[in-house]
Amino acid sequence: MNRTQILSELKSASDIDILVIGGGASGLGVALDGMSRGFKVAVLEKVDFGKGTSSKATKLLHGGVRYLQNGDVGLVIEALREREFVLTKASHLSRIQKFVIPHYSHWEGWYYWAGLKTYDLLSANRSLGRTSKISKEETLQLLPNLKKKGLKGGIVYTDGQFDDTRLCIDLVSTLNNSGSLVINYCSVDNFIYGSNDKIVGAIATDHQSGESFEVKAKCIVNATGVFAEQTMAIESEDTDIKIVPARGSHVVIDRSFLQSDEAIMIPKTSDGRVLFLVPWKNVVIMGTTDVVSKTLTMEPKATDEEIDFILKNASQYLEKVPTRKDILSTFAGLRPLAAPKKEGRKSKEISRSHKVVQSKADLFSILGGKWTTFRKMGEDTIDAIIDAGKLSKSKSHSEYMDIYNGSTIENGTPIHEALPYSWEELKHYIQNEWVEHAEDLLCRRSRCILLHKEATLEILDQAIELIATHHGYDTAWQANERERFLEVADAY
Ligand SMILES: Cc1cc2nc3c(=O)[nH]c(=O)nc-3n(C[C@H](O)[C@H](O)[C@H](O)COP(=O)(O)OP(=O)(O)OC[C@H]3O[C@@H](n4cnc5c(N)ncnc54)[C@H](O)[C@@H]3O)c2cc1C
Repeated sequence: MNRTQILSELKSASDIDILVIGGGASGLGVALDGMSRGFKVAVLEKVDFGKGTSSKATKLLHGGVRYLQNGDVGLVIEALREREFVLTKASHLSRIQKFVIPHYSHWEGWYYWAGLKTYDLLSANRSLGRTSKISKEETLQLLPNLKKKGLKGGIVYTDGQFDDTRLCIDLVSTLNNSGSLVINYCSVDNFIYGSNDKIVGAIATDHQSGESFEVKAKCIVNATGVFAEQTMAIESEDTDIKIVPARGSHVVIDRSFLQSDEAIMIPKTSDGRVLFLVPWKNVVIMGTTDVVSKTLTMEPKATDEEIDFILKNASQYLEKVPTRKDILSTFAGLRPLAAPKKEGRKSKEISRSHKVVQSKADLFSILGGKWTTFRKMGEDTIDAIIDAGKLSKSKSHSEYMDIYNGSTIENGTPIHEALPYSWEELKHYIQNEWVEHAEDLLCRRSRCILLHKEATLEILDQAIELIATHHGYDTAWQANERERFLEVADAY
């Protein structure tokens, strides 16, 4: 179904069981699980699918080695189970990734080996490969650009990697192909209340036409990530939960700085965090930082300080050192960490586990969590709604569901030598994947901007023309669209 058809069905539907607000990882996880139980589901996304934090992940499918330090064993086991789900059901978008922790003292080597052996044990029969301790020579064979001076050896462990927004889009296709109504550029701005003061529907705006419309549903889920507190406040200012947005920034550089298919995990940066250097498509993603953000924005931006921090810490481990002029792109996301209002903990210390909160008027909010566990977050949300008596009892089948494979055309006319996409692929996305704006096409259906900002700007006009031709838009729209894209590109 195209966007117009989905919109028209949404407006007339009287049988929606679950209305989800937010088309990121959490919202789509809720929708997938609801659909797997036979419920009629609708998802309204204010901007585009994955526009929020879900396009800004480090792209790791992981149990979270670092959460072991906080004793979050349950969280790690759950995530390792979900890692397997994505690797199996979305194998076209994910892969097994080896990580090397280089160590420069023998003591460190044994310390990290012991920690990762625990990770192995928790993985049990879901392990993707055993952790091993390797010599200096073996480490340099795997990572030729690693700093040699003082190197004692490495620890190799295995996790997963994926394409975050492609997973969003393929989830939307899975849902829409099965009768759900998932739409972008529609926001929920208010709620409709029944005679008992419980929410029975929402007032939404279609941002493409500016038109407002109503959607009735048996229950409503707030899956708006860092905006969850704002969405809760539409119903009541009196929320116990505070969202603490913590910015994580990434720097993207050429693969020649890694010269390897293996990733590097730096276990302790100068601020005590973990830093990853991960090969991804034709680049290396380095990240991330963790800085409490004072502003809540849809397009967070890596600060100069964060970029310098990442470059400095990565440089301590590399022979060929990346500098500012080597940066192909940067991107930043806000972690939707949910903390009880009374506590004032640092973002690093707030638990990464998710929680479902039910308001007095029966708005169900799914808070926190991570991409890897999106399906389980969805399952727990629907369970909470069933337990509250809002939906009939029905068993979750989401773990058995295959995710649609929207990967396309292998060969075609390359759009640019620095970008691994063809014009045929871009046309396919425009025709089949609800592309409304250039940013949908170049930031999320393809990952052009994230891979190489300058190259993306070079093909921008042609990409806009393709979208305009498909929708029948005029040259004035194209000029506006160019300005609009340049504003978005500023954050990369
Ligand atoms: C820097 C960084 C790196 C990360 N790396 C990883 C990783 O490697 N692996 C991993 O598993 N996890 C990772 N995570 C965590 C993961 O990315 C997030 O937990 C997840 O993407 C959050 O998804 P979400 O759906 O809750 O939020 P979002 O993706 O932000 O989605 C919320 C959506 O709600 C929409 N919305 C807001 N208000 C409204 C409204 N009124 N009406 C309709 N729609 C609305 C927004 O437009 C947005 O698209 C990372 C997070 C960060 C910040």
